[in-house]
Amino acid sequence: MWVPGHSGVSWNEKADYIAKQVSDSSPYIDWIASEDILSHLKKQSFQITEENYHKSKYQLLIGNFPDILTISKWTGNRVQDRLIARIISKTITTPGLLSRFNLHPDPLCRVCNEINDISHILLRCQKYASVRVTFWRKLNIASANITYDVLLSHVLVNKNKLLIFIQTLKYFDID
Ligand SMILES: [Zn+2]
Repeated sequence: MWVPGHSGVSWNEKADYIAKQVSDSSPYIDWIASEDILSHLKKQSFQITEENYHKSKYQLLIGNFPDILTISKWTGNRVQDRLIARIISKTITTPGLLSRFNLHPDPLCRVCNEINDISHILLRCQKYASVRVTFWRKLNIASANITYDVLLSHVLVNKNKLLIFIQTLKYFDID
């Protein structure tokens, strides 16, 4: 059965044309190890991702934090990487977040009667007042009244601070 395949799709025809040219005219293509091609492409794609991030609105939104590639060298495993990425993007699963998608009936914290999201839990919830005192001291945070961004800027300084933060999250019932 005939299928349309590449014919008529201009970028595919271009790719075919270039591929044919290379295989006809450059016998040396066989001497490039596939690992070298892969690692080059990988490096290039990281660079592009990084450039796009720095040009994007998220840079302004999130602030001047180290990128996730730097942070993942401090964390040690995928679970912690994901946890930190969710902390930065405020997508930790909380009643406050779930109720925004109609997945939880009550967005409010029962103790404080405020929206129970990650910002409330880490910065204001009375349930965690004593955990917060100990934790803020370890991170050299002097003021009790800080924003989420200021908290992140104290946490994402180096490996030591980040690990203190990750260890403390379980006392906030986050993991
Ligand atoms: Zn609360």
